[in-house]
Formats: sequence, C-alpha cells, structure tokens
Amino acid sequence: MLETLTSRVRSAQKHAPVDLEGLASSLGLKVNYAYLPAGISGELVSDNGSFSININAGDPPTRQRFTLAHEIGHYVRHRDLIGTGLDDDRAYRSTNQGRYFNTRIGPKQETEANKFAANLLMPWDLIEEMQEAGLNRSQIAGQLGVSEHAMAIRLGEPYP
Ligand SMILES: [Zn+2]
Repeated sequence: MLETLTSRVRSAQKHAPVDLEGLASSLGLKVNYAYLPAGISGELVSDNGSFSININAGDPPTRQRFTLAHEIGHYVRHRDLIGTGLDDDRAYRSTNQGRYFNTRIGPKQETEANKFAANLLMPWDLIEEMQEAGLNRSQIAGQLGVSEHAMAIRLGEPYP
C-alpha cells in the first residue's frame, strides 16, 4: 500500500504524545541523539540519499521533540535544498556555528519547518479532546510533550 505523507502524519497523531520517532522511521529517516557542537539543537544530514537527523542529547525532552519535528519539516517541505545537510541553532536558524552551514536555508524555510512542527506536535483534534476533558494548558502541553510556551503560542495566548 502506498502511504501518503498525510496518512503517515495522521497515524502518528492518533494519540498523545504524537509518535515522532514512528513518523521519522516511516519516512526512512534515522534519528540519533548526540552531543552536538555548542549552540546547535539539531542537524539534518544527507549521505548519498539516505537522511538522518541528529538531536542534541543535552537538550530537555520538550526541546528535543520540537527539534525532531522541525527537522522532519525541513525534510518534508524542501528536501531538494538540503544538499549534504543543514543545522539549526537554538533559535532554529541555519548557522555557521555547526558542521553543515547551508546558505539555501533561510527565514522562509525555517518558518515552513516551524509551522510543520507546530501542526505535527499539537494537532487541534487532540487539543480539543483534552480541553473538553477539562485539562488545562499546562496539562495539555505535558500530554503532548511540548513546552507550555509552545502550547501558548499554538493557542494564541499570552505566556509570561
Ligand atoms: Zn531549521
């Protein structure tokens, strides 16, 4: 059966937290947790057409999840620009501090990857289910494995 991206994403989003590792693997992406150069949250690396994602092992779990979702977004949205790789600093910007400085990845691509990540990690149907069950913002963030700050942005609410 030919699985589309949408059906892969939907199946990863069946339950909270969203199954990022399962999605990455269904897309053929290898995920590694490694001690990356200072200031680097994640890397997307292409080696002869096989892609892997490296996540900073020193980051907190909610940041690691956002990074993984963001790198999947780079792969899904603009694979043709990746070349040998790209890296993301702590603000999710392409940076010359890493090993894969990629000048083809600019603010437009970062915004695309961030939007993909937010949609992937915080699906509205799961959020609404939890809101109807009476969970508050912090509890919903906890269930989805995202920071409360990310959830506040998703909900369009102020965050101190
Ligand atoms: Zn990025």
